[in-house]
Amino acid sequence: MNLKDKIRVIENFPQEGISFKDITTLLKDGESFRYTIDKFVEELDGKEFDLIVGPESRGFIIGTPLSYATKKGFVPVRKPGKLPGETVKYEYDLEYGSDSLEIHKDAIQKGQKVVIADDLLATGGTLLSTIKLIEELGGEVVGVLCLIELCHLNGRKHLSDYDVKSLIQY
Ligand code: IMP
Repeated sequence: MNLKDKIRVIENFPQEGISFKDITTLLKDGESFRYTIDKFVEELDGKEFDLIVGPESRGFIIGTPLSYATKKGFVPVRKPGKLPGETVKYEYDLEYGSDSLEIHKDAIQKGQKVVIADDLLATGGTLLSTIKLIEELGGEVVGVLCLIELCHLNGRKHLSDYDVKSLIQY
């Protein structure tokens, strides 16, 4: 199955000059969505891990079916102020200003092995921040799975210490 054909590319969204990769066209096609999750499950074959972590919000869409399929727990990483319990926060720089992500302090135990799932790797900022949060709690990131990788943005260079897999490349 060619998954790339299922992605809709919308030019100049959300702003001029951005070529937005829209995964909703893949998600609404049941066979393609199932195939996507099956592919990720295959990537994880033989890997030992305890938890799947997904960053808000499309990381939830990829991460939770993967959690169900592998029988591992799911931990959300969210925008500030969304998680009700005690959290740790990681703030990262954007071109203008900064952004931050949070995780529940008790979500990961020291030494637990974690796989991260998300929809898209662009500059790598989101995934790197997610990694920092996991590591701050003492978790070990043993794999990073994303559906789409925008290779020209070279987000991988920030993630060179990790096992990063993507299913579709642009
Ligand atoms: P990064 O932090 O620069 O790697 O950006 C990755 C995040 O931005 C992902 O979690 C995506 O949800 C979002 N994103 C950036 N570009 C696109 C796109 O073209 N389509 C869908 N999501 C995007």
